[in-house]
This record gives sequence, structure tokens and C-alpha cells, in this order.
Amino acid sequence: MLNVNGPITQEQIKSSLSKEGAEMLNEHLVQRLIYEITEDNENSISIIKCLLEGKITDEEISEEIELRLNIVRKILYRLYDAGLASYKRSKDPETQWYTYRWKFEKDKVIDIITKKFEENSREMEESLAYEEDNMFFSCINGCRYKFEEASEYNFVCPECEKTLEYQDNSSLITELKEQMS
Ligand SMILES: [Zn+2]
Repeated sequence: MLNVNGPITQEQIKSSLSKEGAEMLNEHLVQRLIYEITEDNENSISIIKCLLEGKITDEEISEEIELRLNIVRKILYRLYDAGLASYKRSKDPETQWYTYRWKFEKDKVIDIITKKFEENSREMEESLAYEEDNMFFSCINGCRYKFEEASEYNFVCPECEKTLEYQDNSSLITELKEQMS
């Protein structure tokens, strides 16, 4: 599974999943996913836009966005590798040359984002349960321990030697619940 680095909010995921076609390409999360796959922030979105607008051979794309053919191909193959693009090959009977007609696989993008969404929800449920099931103590520098650990340390932070005080995590719990709704 692909790893989209950095924090993802439930909101970004929901927003990405609600968009269709080219509109989807304006979504921050979709863009991040595509950049990560193609390693090209400048051209990948324009290439996918071409595919969605019906310019589906590498030559057509290369002309449309004025980008070298080998770069267009490299990006298309990276998308293909990740399952985000597919192609059909046909041979010209006269020249014997092959033409590749490319297609952007939107459903795969939705698949990946849906998986992310599920993973994210699961993680948040786990965090919520962890916060609800435990009592926390922290020092002035923000080191944080569960009651059991804090009591083992006699309520003195082993990192900074500051006193560990009870930390009310109810606002954090409320925040988590809000993010999940
Ligand atoms: Zn500390």
C-alpha cells in the first residue's frame, strides 16, 4: 500500500472522495498521491488532465503541454506501475509502429484514498480509546505518561526530572471526537 507522508485530515479524505473526474485533481490529497507516485510536481497533473480531456497518446500529450516525449512517457509509466494508468497498444499496419492509448484509472485513486480513509478512521478510534481508557500525567516540558508509568517513576519525569502532574485530556477527547464526526 502506498504511503502518503504527512498528516491527512478526515476532511481532506472526505473531500477527495466526493470529487469526480478532473475536479478530483484539484484535491490536495489526490495531488500529493500523484506527486508521490510520479515524483514530478510540475507535469503530472497536466498529463492526467490531458488523458481526461481525450488526448490519450504520448505524442498528443507531449504536443499539448509542450513537454519532451520521454518525460511524458516516464510519468505515464510511473502511473501505470502504481495502477493509476493503463494503456492499449495497437500496431499501424503500414508503418508497423505501435501506438499506445492511455487511460487514467480514477477508480484506483479512489481505492487508495478509501483505504487511507479506513486506516485513518481506525487509527483515530484507537487513539480515542487510548485517551478514554487511560489517565495521563505530564511534566512542564510536555513529556507524557500513563498513570501506571508515572506512578512507577514516583511522579517525577525520568527525562527532565520535573514533577509529573495530572493532565486533563477531556479537551483532547472532544477534539478527537469532532475530527471523527
Ligand atoms: Zn519531562
